[in-house]
Amino acid sequence: MFMQEVMKSKKYLKEEIVRLQDEIALLKNPSVNSISDSELNSDHLFHSIFEESGIGMAIINKDARIIKLNRSFARLFNYSDRELLEKTYFDLIPDEKKDKAHQFIHSMFTSELEKYQAEQPFIKSDGTIIWLKITATILKNVQGEPEYVLGMGEDITELKKGEKIKDAVSNISNAVNSNQNLYKLIETIKESLENIIDSKHFFIALYNENEDNFSVPYIVDQKETFETFSAEKTLVGYVLKNKKSVLLNYREIIDLQDQNEVFIAGKLSKQWLGIPLINQEKIIGVIGVQSFESENAFDHNDLTILEILSNQISTSIQKMRSEEALRIERAYFKELFDNSPEAIAIVDNSSKIININREFTRLFGYTKSEAIDKSIEDLISTPAFKEEAHNLTTDIAMGKKTVKIDTKRRRKDGSMVDVSLWGTPIILDKGQIAVYAIFRDITERVESKKKLEEAKNKAEESDRLKTSFLTNMSHEIRTPMNAIVGFSELIAEPATDQESRNEFAEQIYISSKMLLKLIDDIIDISQLDSENIKVHKKKTNLSNLLSGVHEKFNSEKLKEGKDNIELLLHNPFGDLTTYIDTDEFRFKQIFYNLLNNALKYTDQGFIEFGFDVNQYDEPIFYVRDTGIGIPPDKTDTIFNHFTKIEDRRKLYRGTGIGLTITKKLVSLLGGDIWVESNVGIGSIFYFTVSEKVNFVKIKKTGSFIKSYNWAGKKILVAEDDDTNYQVIKASLSRTHANLIRVQNGEKAIDECLSHHYDLVIMDIRMPKLDGIEATKKIKSVKPDIPIIAQTAFFLKNERDTCIDAGCNDYIPKPVNSPKLLETIDKYFVNGK
Ligand code: ADP
Repeated sequence: MFMQEVMKSKKYLKEEIVRLQDEIALLKNPSVNSISDSELNSDHLFHSIFEESGIGMAIINKDARIIKLNRSFARLFNYSDRELLEKTYFDLIPDEKKDKAHQFIHSMFTSELEKYQAEQPFIKSDGTIIWLKITATILKNVQGEPEYVLGMGEDITELKKGEKIKDAVSNISNAVNSNQNLYKLIETIKESLENIIDSKHFFIALYNENEDNFSVPYIVDQKETFETFSAEKTLVGYVLKNKKSVLLNYREIIDLQDQNEVFIAGKLSKQWLGIPLINQEKIIGVIGVQSFESENAFDHNDLTILEILSNQISTSIQKMRSEEALRIERAYFKELFDNSPEAIAIVDNSSKIININREFTRLFGYTKSEAIDKSIEDLISTPAFKEEAHNLTTDIAMGKKTVKIDTKRRRKDGSMVDVSLWGTPIILDKGQIAVYAIFRDITERVESKKKLEEAKNKAEESDRLKTSFLTNMSHEIRTPMNAIVGFSELIAEPATDQESRNEFAEQIYISSKMLLKLIDDIIDISQLDSENIKVHKKKTNLSNLLSGVHEKFNSEKLKEGKDNIELLLHNPFGDLTTYIDTDEFRFKQIFYNLLNNALKYTDQGFIEFGFDVNQYDEPIFYVRDTGIGIPPDKTDTIFNHFTKIEDRRKLYRGTGIGLTITKKLVSLLGGDIWVESNVGIGSIFYFTVSEKVNFVKIKKTGSFIKSYNWAGKKILVAEDDDTNYQVIKASLSRTHANLIRVQNGEKAIDECLSHHYDLVIMDIRMPKLDGIEATKKIKSVKPDIPIIAQTAFFLKNERDTCIDAGCNDYIPKPVNSPKLLETIDKYFVNGK
């Protein structure tokens, strides 16, 4: 409104000046600017124009003294004419502008400036500021020298205020956008108001609804902060309560105190102006100014100005507050997200990764740039878990709030990790916008659960084994004890003859030995378990040691009545003497234990023991048998305490501790033990020790398995029984001969006649065509090919039939390895 008025008066002023100048020119023609004092005073027309003009006009002389002024001029400043005539121009200028005013006057009177226009503040009689738009013109004397200055002034205070309000509004809104904090914003508001009202005691008090208090910006130890005070019984509280602006003088304030509305604790202000800051119909604070000096410092104009500004201020404060709240919230979230001890990925509704945190990178190995925009399922799920991951996403989308599963995920390096996975939807305006996938590494938990389970199983197993051991043990003790007691009684019988006595004594002896062995084993295992056995290694003649074992065990075998089983010793050094650093007693014990087992579980065939050396001269010892064999799933467990294989067709005696002792002894000697076995074919127990073998060239005698090298020889084996074929194959395994197998007589004939063979091993009982017929046919075409028949051990006439059919030789079944090798060698040595 006032802007319009200002515009109008501006226009009017312009016209007035033009008119005035024209009049002056007319009056003073031909020299427009040359007038004398008397002319000035005497000219009636000019005088009346000057006096009556709505524009403030004054004439000042070279001393800047006001020598003439009109009514409008006096009104502008609220002085009387006389008062003004006693003043100079400079008396009307605010201190800070005085220098500039001197310059201006000087330039006018030195003709540097003929005309001057400016917007300038002046001081009114009451000390307040009035803004004038001034136009100054130089008046010259007849000599054409500057004599006076005619000044005309138009009140533009309101216009100026309007501009300043505009500036303030734009400053305030800029402050909000320039990332300042609330404290700085309030400072800016304060500064912006300085130009508009007397803001020496300006304040902004922000209202905290929850605590019903106000806070004002405050500086403590150079730190910007806010001080709070209660809303109760304060003037700002009064504005808050009434929800409208107030302009109070001290008397009115005292009245309010008398009415118990407020309580004045500090200095009483002479005038107090407060305006509520309202945002979305809520009071967020109060702005105001107060004066301790004058009760007329502010008027309703000031109140209106502040009311106009209050809108902008409250919007800005609110905006700043919510931005600050948002920033704080973001900072909290970022901190929580980044430093969370759980690995977190935020994924969109199509499982695409939006963000991951540090722990995610640590757990899975992917950096942010590697993970973002990838499908989380592709990144860390393996095909086996993709469906589960997909179902999880669907479950969350179907409205299940938080879904949790324990599962596995894949790291960048391909390794798998056990995780607890929580999926939580992120909802905005009732719609799901994304999902939080939180992964907790539960490796330790899973591992300790596994260990606990293993320990439990072990405890149960060991309990079971102990029970079975005790049952076995009582049986193992009772059997020889029964024999000892029974036979002792029989020996004592007078009717028992000498031959029976001898036999009973032998039985008692055998049973006692069994008992003794059992007791030895039990003592050994308990000592080994408590690590009480020490080894005493010394240089030992290995060749002698093995020969000794061979000899002793041969007699053992005979005592067991197993003379059909051949016992063979293999020493790759043949007649050279070999040495090894070992504990002789324990080393022998290992062999005896393995040989005892071999004998126990073998009913036919042979037992071979000894060693071979690898390229580092390290010996690998072995005991091999053609016994019942061990199922593949038991080859590890048989070395455990009390483990027996129970589901044998025949009942074997034993406690299940022999191999446990053996394994512990091997490990005491620094080696390892393992078994290779085929059920029904036989077993080979291998063991190592930590020492190498050394040998010296001394001739030695003994029964060794000879080594044969039949590389390049081709042997046809006609054998339909798998077990028998395996025995032959195993026997020939070290000879390097090339074996071809056929499973009936007809195939044997075909092979022999169509290919070259150096020798044929022919089984007699075969389907389709037996060995006898096949031999006859082959020999009729290739009489020189050596054929060795396998015959049943006990059928003497079968052997004769074989020789009659053309076989060169025969070996009894079950096949005995050295015998077979010896027999074949006869035909190869002979150069055939
Ligand atoms: P045991 O006193 O029962 O023989 P061991 O610890 O010596 O106890 O052997 C454990 C189990 O291993 C035996 O019960 C047996 O079933 C199996 N075993 C050991 N040696 C052999 C072998 N040479 N041939 C077949 N089975 C064997």
